[in-house]
Amino acid sequence: MGTALLGLDASELLSALGPGHPAFRGRQLYEALYRRRVSSWDQVTTLPKSLRDDLVTRLPLGWPEVAADYSSVDGTRRYLLRLGDGRTVETVFMPEETRDTICISSQVGCPVDCKFCLTALMGLERNLTAGEIVGQVLLVAARHSLAPGSRQLNVVMMGQGEPLLNLPNVLKATQLLVDPKGVGMSERRITVSTAGIIPRIAELGQADVRPKLAISLNASTEDQRRELMPITRKWHLKDLIEACRAYPLRPWEKLTFEYVLLRGVNDTDADARRVVRLLSHLNAKVNLIALNPGPGIPFETPGPERVAGFQSIVAKAMPCFVRKPRGRDIYAACGQLKRVAAEELVGLR
Ligand code: SAH
Repeated sequence: MGTALLGLDASELLSALGPGHPAFRGRQLYEALYRRRVSSWDQVTTLPKSLRDDLVTRLPLGWPEVAADYSSVDGTRRYLLRLGDGRTVETVFMPEETRDTICISSQVGCPVDCKFCLTALMGLERNLTAGEIVGQVLLVAARHSLAPGSRQLNVVMMGQGEPLLNLPNVLKATQLLVDPKGVGMSERRITVSTAGIIPRIAELGQADVRPKLAISLNASTEDQRRELMPITRKWHLKDLIEACRAYPLRPWEKLTFEYVLLRGVNDTDADARRVVRLLSHLNAKVNLIALNPGPGIPFETPGPERVAGFQSIVAKAMPCFVRKPRGRDIYAACGQLKRVAAEELVGLR
């Protein structure tokens, strides 16, 4: 079998067909893959049957397969998806009353060694291709009858992986997701989150089509961030804030900062005041995340009063929200994606 089609643009699709096809075949295939979101060759009815019969034997469309799925008491679904090479990665669907969110992965595992995150324990297996990134959205949209073009659907690249260490594929996937001739999402409904890969932040800012940017801050001093996020040894907090200051926001956009609250570690009033000082000259909002616990994570979750106390200090200076944990019971919440299997879940609950 040849390479998967999902992830290719119209001209790449035309070349994948082989020599001798008119250009419109590439566009027909593009339309079928991204606008109609076909998941099997027999649905590509715009192509002649004889051509389809030939292609089905040599070109996989590239949709991921569902290897397992888990349902939370709060309605969250965690999908374990099997990719073309047999590796598996996770995607999370979070329905809400007025909007739905799909949290997708950008890598299998993650090379960034954050001390509070379960995905870090996997290490990096590999980057996802643009098609594998888009495929997660298409699969969840199909399963839950979601319309990607609607204002109700948000996609966040906050699953496994560090998206800015796979920036070319993340940007290509974003282009495919926002092309009005294809999937047709709005750039405003896609968010990419980074642990702070400083040179890639600048590069993202230069892209014509780009998601909104979220930064995982998670600490209020250089030393504390170095302890919690060893990547800070290379990319300093001071320079991260400078990169944020230089980032070209669009008129409708704010920078989002995520801050994981770890009991007794980075959750004091003094931390909150330092966060305000770090961010007050930026056009920023803050999302607080009380630690989602997991085996092997040497931190505790602060109580709701502490979270509220922290929030009230930051909220005096800038918009500050507390992210509701979703799917903790099935290991689907922020920082919990480590392919925890059904048998293990029983023991952990
Ligand atoms: N690597 C990227 C994308 C992952 S986003 C990044 O770091 O931004 C996942 C978010 O969940 C990040 O903001 C991260 O700081 C947060 N997180 C990680 N582990 C967590 C945990 N155990 N509890 C709560 N949030 C966590």
